[in-house]
Amino acid sequence: MGAGSASALAGDAAAPAEPGQPALAGLVEAAQLAPHLSPAVEPQLPDDNAEDEPLYAARKKIYPQHVTGTFRRIKWAVLVVTLGVYYFLPFIRWDRGPNAPSQAVLIDIPGRRFYFFFIEIWPQEVYYLTGLLIIAAMTLFLMNALAGRVWCGYLCPQTVWTDLFVTIERWIEGDRREHLLRDRQPWTFERIARSASKHFWWLMIAWWTGGAWVLYFADAPTLVKDLATFQAPFAAYVFIGLLTFTTYALAGWMREQVCVYMCPWPRIQAALTDEFALNVTYRYDRGEPRASLKKAAALHEHGQPAGDCIDCLQCVHVCPTGVDIRGGSNLGCIQCGLCIDACDAVMAKIGRPARLIAYDTDVNIKNRQQGKPAFYRLVRTRTVLYAVIIVLVGSIMTYSLATRRNDAVSVIHDRNPLFVRLSDGALRNGYAIRVLNKTHDSQSYTLKVAGLPDAEIEVIGSEGVSGGSPLIYVGPDQSREMRVLVTTHQKLDPGASIPLTFTVMPAAGGTAASAADHFLGP
Ligand code: SF4
Ligand code: SF4
Repeated sequence: MGAGSASALAGDAAAPAEPGQPALAGLVEAAQLAPHLSPAVEPQLPDDNAEDEPLYAARKKIYPQHVTGTFRRIKWAVLVVTLGVYYFLPFIRWDRGPNAPSQAVLIDIPGRRFYFFFIEIWPQEVYYLTGLLIIAAMTLFLMNALAGRVWCGYLCPQTVWTDLFVTIERWIEGDRREHLLRDRQPWTFERIARSASKHFWWLMIAWWTGGAWVLYFADAPTLVKDLATFQAPFAAYVFIGLLTFTTYALAGWMREQVCVYMCPWPRIQAALTDEFALNVTYRYDRGEPRASLKKAAALHEHGQPAGDCIDCLQCVHVCPTGVDIRGGSNLGCIQCGLCIDACDAVMAKIGRPARLIAYDTDVNIKNRQQGKPAFYRLVRTRTVLYAVIIVLVGSIMTYSLATRRNDAVSVIHDRNPLFVRLSDGALRNGYAIRVLNKTHDSQSYTLKVAGLPDAEIEVIGSEGVSGGSPLIYVGPDQSREMRVLVTTHQKLDPGASIPLTFTVMPAAGGTAASAADHFLGP
């Protein structure tokens, strides 16, 4: 635990303790940059007894205090939008014609399709998933290069649901102080009722979260009806139960421990970040030495400096992970900006400039210490590289989706025999042709073979002939394999291998699909 946290605890016996292990590099850096730090925040280096410390520390409950301000408003907006999308998206309809599902976003496992509004992904197109994962990873890296763990602070499902659960808890158990007092009281009927009510609403939200999840895998209105009448598939109830449990446990009980101990992203982003990334930062140059208003006045009277930080601990009390950001960079900090709002409110009350805590870069901390001007560099090699990869992969996927076909054909030449000499001297080759119809309607295709001008084509099991070409019928969303015989009366050179092109064309019109093979002679 950093010394800063220790001071936080000293200021209020019930104040939250820092749950994460402070980044030592950050603390050492802080020590070098802020030689005039008050003893309360002076970083400590590990001592020889550190290895005697237990690896496990019991969780100290955090009571985040309500705060208002710019970043809190942004978080509310993100919470409403993301949860609104998650819970209601399955009910949005999208007309795809008579034989296709009308749900805008649907993972249709029996039909082996993923529908996203006008986009339809087939199972053989998993490379789109790869593309999406690359874009998601690069977007995360880009966010990190620009503004640190901004994903964690605003958009991560763990953050969003925990925020919602904390809000419910605050409505029922009261804000920080009231909740702290209540938790110290014996279990009265009122306290039991409040606690039961809180857990009931947590479970309701968790259940709704699990319920919304399964709606992405079936027609939502139908599944809701089936769930209510206990006619839904057993798997649906199992998944709802699992997600109810995980949401309740992760957002209700484990909260900041998921971010601090379980999630790998803080460690990854610590390796990815650089000195130009914006991170929530306490401005040592302004804040130190910390002093109450009275003490600051006394110090000034004696011609001594006093920082803007009045050590009120508001920034610590509002922190959802219990971090004292004044102790330097910390793996527990999810960069939510709530401490900025809290400190800004304090600064406004005491008539000092805002943003004593602010999104700032490591390089600016150094510059300010050395009396140099602050500057920001958002356009850097890494941010440009991430943006280029996102645009490139996105463009390739868009082009591929826009130009892809609804049908396909493949051909395999018979392995044995390679050719057959008929009684009239003609040569015949056999092929297995597979026609794929990816549409939701049945289609008839005409088959043409180019490469041998006088070739006779016979499709075993063909549905007839149209315009002199054999017709092949393929059901909706199906593929069909047919045997094709190609016969020529031409006299071929010994060892001849003549390229052939097999072309299928939808009889109702459209563009042709082709596949290549060879006609082999003796
Ligand atoms: S230190 Fe500030 S930015 Fe970091 S998690 Fe706590 S409140 Fe959010
Ligand atoms: S809220 Fe601001 S003034 Fe109060 S302890 Fe935190 S940094 Fe200092």
